[in-house]
Amino acid sequence: MRVVLVGPPGAGKGTQAQFIASHLSIPKISTGDIFRANVSGGTELGKLAKEYMDRGDLVPDEVTVAMVRDRLSEDDAQEGFLLDGFPRNVPQAEVLKKMLAEFGTGLDVVLNLVVEDDEVVRRLAGRRTCRSCGKVWHVVFDPPTVEGVCDACGGELFQRDDDREETIRRRLEVYQEQTAPLISFYADEGILQGVDATGPVEEITQRAMSALRRFAD
Ligand SMILES: [Zn+2]
Repeated sequence: MRVVLVGPPGAGKGTQAQFIASHLSIPKISTGDIFRANVSGGTELGKLAKEYMDRGDLVPDEVTVAMVRDRLSEDDAQEGFLLDGFPRNVPQAEVLKKMLAEFGTGLDVVLNLVVEDDEVVRRLAGRRTCRSCGKVWHVVFDPPTVEGVCDACGGELFQRDDDREETIRRRLEVYQEQTAPLISFYADEGILQGVDATGPVEEITQRAMSALRRFAD
């Protein structure tokens, strides 16, 4: 099966990507992994991407697309894959469609993890990080014995800027703006499937798997 997974920050996308890919026995292909593999492997594309990253610039679409093409051409991706982090926008989605058509295939389904903004804020804004050992706690879901103190090392807990409500809401706005057109693109293609991404991790995986079964031949 050829699957794309999309979802806002805080939806547990990375975890679900891993579980779903392993249930389906297909490789999980994330742009982060592809970038790291190319950079550490010293490929031409990796060197190019690194130049942009070292300057603090975004890696241009054509470099990302070339890396994705290389990765999708590998043996383990011939029977299916789960893409995480690509495509990010409609132009990339169109390129992917063309690329897969050249390979004589196409996407089967796009899974959209659906979580309310308030729930994302509840999940992320409750995170507290230890200044000494870096362990992450959660004021509701994984609280330390003594408020503000790390159980592991006794260090002081603090809230990272990334975990502040204003920052999270801004990231969510940016995500919705960029992703809404992508969602409608795949809705028009008739392969979009929403998955309620609230509740226990295993339940979300089960929901995703039954959604996928509806698209399996
Ligand atoms: Zn600690």
